Amino acid sequence: MARRVGSLVPLAAAVLVLLVAAGAGAAGHDDEAAARRTMEEFAGFPASDGVDGERSSSSAAAAFYVDSDGLQRQIDELASFSDSPAPSVTRVLYSDKDVQARRYIKGIMNQLGLTIREDAVGNIFGHWEGSEAGLGAVATGSHVDAIPFSGKYDGVVGVLGALEAINMLKRSGFQPKRSLEVIMFTSEEPTRFGISCLGSRLMAGSEELAQSLKETVDNQNVSFFDAADSAGYKMHPEDLHNVFLKKDNYFAFIELHIEQGPILEKEGIQIGVVTAIAAPASIKVEFEGNGGHAGAVLMPARNDAGLAAAELALAVEKHVLESGSIDTVGTVGILQLHPGAINSIPSKSHVEIDVRDIDEKRRNTVIEKVHQSATEISKKRGVVLSEFKIINQDPPALSDKSVISAMEFAAKQLNLEYKLMISRAYHDSLFMARISPMGMIFIPCYKGYSHKPEEYASPEDMANGVKVLALTMAKLSLQ
Ligand SMILES: [Zn+2]
Repeated sequence: MARRVGSLVPLAAAVLVLLVAAGAGAAGHDDEAAARRTMEEFAGFPASDGVDGERSSSSAAAAFYVDSDGLQRQIDELASFSDSPAPSVTRVLYSDKDVQARRYIKGIMNQLGLTIREDAVGNIFGHWEGSEAGLGAVATGSHVDAIPFSGKYDGVVGVLGALEAINMLKRSGFQPKRSLEVIMFTSEEPTRFGISCLGSRLMAGSEELAQSLKETVDNQNVSFFDAADSAGYKMHPEDLHNVFLKKDNYFAFIELHIEQGPILEKEGIQIGVVTAIAAPASIKVEFEGNGGHAGAVLMPARNDAGLAAAELALAVEKHVLESGSIDTVGTVGILQLHPGAINSIPSKSHVEIDVRDIDEKRRNTVIEKVHQSATEISKKRGVVLSEFKIINQDPPALSDKSVISAMEFAAKQLNLEYKLMISRAYHDSLFMARISPMGMIFIPCYKGYSHKPEEYASPEDMANGVKVLALTMAKLSLQ
């Protein structure tokens, strides 16, 4: 299948050519030749010196595989650091299990010969120095914290899979020009302190977060700093600023992740190339009325805070549906009534609303309309709108064109079917996009399940994701 590869063609390029040929299978000679030409553009590191091309490249190609058994074993081992019984996983920030998981990840980084750095809050970086270390690095990574009773693939595939991608590149003899880096982000999940993407948000330079962490406590009243200290991260509030990264630190950031939705599996597509990440805005609303006895107070005399909340929930749906785009979504996930008795007119209601879109302006227009509706409803129903608070309003992120084209290139070379898609869940990439060109690679997961023990990604799908990630990083590293 592979034609003779001369000694002028660098070893890694030869490996990649072979990989392509192997992946393409029946793709035919024209495709192979085209792939080889593109791969030859990967040049920029020493060629294998005079060894017979075919022999050296076939041994290198043999090294360019995903160790699926090893990856699965690591995923299972990592899942054993859990505060809930298997198959569920519970791993909360700075808990003993989190500390054990961190040690495990650093152990693998060590074995791979990566230089390890940890910042003040425990973001972990495994660095592979490139031949031009002064250039911005190409980074990848995700998280390994897990919400209570969740699964073992969310985030983990993007950390252990990334380390396997590095392993593949190393096995093949690849020499990066730009340094490569694997990041394990601290606390993507908001479980302990109610702050999602804590590590990446800080890396992206959120002064607001650096300030609020000074007062942040968990539900046991343990402060953020005490919790970090107990996990071995003793810091002074000023140290939080050292977590901030400069904008030119990374040339690109790519995150590999399970889709957490059903689209890829349903459509039988192997790879999702993410073009944008929708960002949530969350709103808390409270109405107050007079309440009263469910039998004694006649309808014209009522000001029912519960009905105001119900009407607002319908208004959210209406404004979202009228946005003009299928990408706008809105959810009323919490609706609480006080006092919550069958024979009592609600005197208070509490509503929490999540609105997402990939277009910030469109999303914010929906929020304004929801606010108008809340005001109108309160007037009409004679209740008080005692709170309308926007809790967070993060801007959505677009993937970078150069990263998208590198990911598409990789999927094509590997002869994998891919689809351009939007990430409706958000990830550390949303914040990395503030300081680096960003892209995400999705792989299918069983029925789209996530955040529960049934979460599953097949070894084949993970291997495809790891290969696309490895090739994408290799390509970007040489730019
Ligand atoms: Zn995740």
